Amino acid sequence: MNESIRHFINNLKVRNPGEPEFLQAVTEVATSIIPYIESEPRYRNSRILERIVEPERVVMFRVPWLDDKGEIQVNRGFRVQMNSAIGPYKGGLRFHPSVNLGVLKFLAFEQIFKNSLTGLPMGAGKGGSDFDPKGKSDNEVMKFCQSFMTELYRHVGADTDIPAGDIGVGGREIGYLFGQYKRITGAFNGVLTGKGNEWGGSLIRPEATGYGLVYFVEEMLRTREESLLGKKVTISGSGNVAQFAAEKCIEKGAKVLTISDSEGFIYDPAGIDKEKLEYIKDLKNNTRGRIKKYAAKYHCEYFPGERPWKIKCDIALPNATQNELDVNDARALVKGGCSCVAEGANMPCTPEAVAVFNKAQVFYAPGKAANAGGVAVSGLEMSQNSQRYSWTRTKVDNKLKEIMHEIHACCLKYGRMADGHVNYEQGANISGFVKVADAMLAQGV
Ligand code: GLU
Repeated sequence: MNESIRHFINNLKVRNPGEPEFLQAVTEVATSIIPYIESEPRYRNSRILERIVEPERVVMFRVPWLDDKGEIQVNRGFRVQMNSAIGPYKGGLRFHPSVNLGVLKFLAFEQIFKNSLTGLPMGAGKGGSDFDPKGKSDNEVMKFCQSFMTELYRHVGADTDIPAGDIGVGGREIGYLFGQYKRITGAFNGVLTGKGNEWGGSLIRPEATGYGLVYFVEEMLRTREESLLGKKVTISGSGNVAQFAAEKCIEKGAKVLTISDSEGFIYDPAGIDKEKLEYIKDLKNNTRGRIKKYAAKYHCEYFPGERPWKIKCDIALPNATQNELDVNDARALVKGGCSCVAEGANMPCTPEAVAVFNKAQVFYAPGKAANAGGVAVSGLEMSQNSQRYSWTRTKVDNKLKEIMHEIHACCLKYGRMADGHVNYEQGANISGFVKVADAMLAQGV
């Protein structure tokens, strides 16, 4: 690590105590960006990175609500408005007990580069709450969402800040949030993305992150003249991203071996096929059931409390949450012959794990590039809302493919190393950075 990187990180630590995920995300970006900044005269004395790591605005608020017993509950709500250099703030809302300011700052920071990479005019934001939707009734989720929006509405808008879903926030929650926004403001507009198709949502938005991830993996494989056909894929997670990543892998002729939830994973050596995947979708989306039921139904192994990375595979897709794949998992994957890792979740691989992949010359794509399909189709939903029009499935899917292709090309442009290996992390960071940094310079201090 060179002296200016060390100095920058030390300063960051002092200014952002108690935010390990944010420090982790910034350190990863700073390490590849600082040498680039130093090599480009236009960034001299601009203090551009110090500016980028500071959110433009953070809103933090009380979310009181009544549970089904009539008792008062209190949660904490947040919206981090990180960067609006290239467009209005854009990024999801996460409802999970692990949510705090540091986690949302890390996610909002990643969103800067991700949104820039999509090529669409979207700034970056992230928000959410420590509310735990698990075990809550439909009525309680609605009450919570209504209270959350009763404060959030004054900070968001179709031309200023457009939230969407993330962990714990899907179509149901977006519906309740949108209803409350409309009730308070009287405006029917594109203030949220991930809306239902009948009321302004885009086709393919639910599938977009998972499909986009697989399109990106195809691009990576193509550089080695390979395809997904016959490849063994391990997947973590069983939510929206995992389900549609699995669906696209199956469609492309790959064999999906695993799927997981917070309690454990299932290993199906025969492969999860279309029919079995339908069962998973039903289980998760309708009955909110646990993945272990799959093992009982299809007579395969269930590993409670474990993650799927010890299973031999060609391709690993971590789609659950941050830091779910550590250095030991990475070693196990490399040993098992895995040659490609692409992140469907945000920052699921620890820095030590990434170092293992790089050393072994395993293709590794960071979430900001590989999972950008979700927010990209959110951007397309915004375009459709502005046009007061809706595009066909084929049109949205083709646009998504095109965007993933372009993101991959950007990664190659700045990530090709002297020995021919592609460092996707460096490629994504520099490419995402340039557009935002130049916009900030153009707009003055
Ligand atoms: N939460 C998703 C992400 O991490 C999507 C955000 C959006 O659609 O605005 O990119």
